[in-house]
Amino acid sequence: MSYGNGRIPLDRLVHLGGEHYLPPGTAARWKWLQRVAHEKYGVWLIITVGWNAYRPLDVQVTYKRLYGNMAAEPGKSSHGGTFGGRIVFAVDVNNWAALGWDRFVALCRLAGFTVDFVSPREQWHIGDFNDGWAVPAGSETTPTIKPETTRKRRRETMIHAAWRDTNGTIGVQCRPNGRITLIGDPIEWAGISAGSGASFYQVGNDHLQGLIRRFGTIPWPNYDDGTTTQHVQVVAPLDGGPSRYLAFGDDLWPISGTDALAKVMEQGVAVVMLPADVIKARLKS
Ligand SMILES: [Zn+2]
Repeated sequence: MSYGNGRIPLDRLVHLGGEHYLPPGTAARWKWLQRVAHEKYGVWLIITVGWNAYRPLDVQVTYKRLYGNMAAEPGKSSHGGTFGGRIVFAVDVNNWAALGWDRFVALCRLAGFTVDFVSPREQWHIGDFNDGWAVPAGSETTPTIKPETTRKRRRETMIHAAWRDTNGTIGVQCRPNGRITLIGDPIEWAGISAGSGASFYQVGNDHLQGLIRRFGTIPWPNYDDGTTTQHVQVVAPLDGGPSRYLAFGDDLWPISGTDALAKVMEQGVAVVMLPADVIKARLKS
């Protein structure tokens, strides 16, 4: 399959949500990488909000105007499906730092991604230099994890437990026996679980209703931290960068897509601006 840079019809690509599209082979490698990082370290990797997987030519033009030196010449971006005359598909990984650089590099190599190939250096920018159109054999299975090489990330998390019923409603409890915050949208949950590594228990509708009767609920965007009613906030970087985070207390979770951000904002959540170094410090891993 051969297309000019940034000229692939979106319907030839796998839609991963939001503005994230990749050809089938690269999509399979990416999903494999997500599964392995989660199995091994409890980190669910996400693509940065925006056109940060495949990037059409008109968007490359816009990004060049917005980001200058940090964006490639339109038509030459490794996000456009070609790079240096080869078929290459790049992905920007929003939360690679939750793994740490060494583990991120090791898992990328296992998954078939190349790291550190653009200048100026972009640690989040990884590329599939394989044929992105061909789905690699075995990509549906996650390799056996050796427990002795695995250490689940320990994280201070506000989430004590989460349950999802068969309607897709997710109930989040931030302390033992605390009231339950109901999250009706799976996209929103993706934003919370992505950064925190929190996962839900799949339960039947009756089960979640039983928990609600027992513990009570607290309306989103509030949560019960045991002493007071707290409000969930959205954090944005002071320098105007595109990333957004959901704050439960001092802990921040990256919001994983424009859809999720829109859902959160619809609820009248307050936006707090913080310096980048404060944001980084609160993204504890
Ligand atoms: Zn990139």
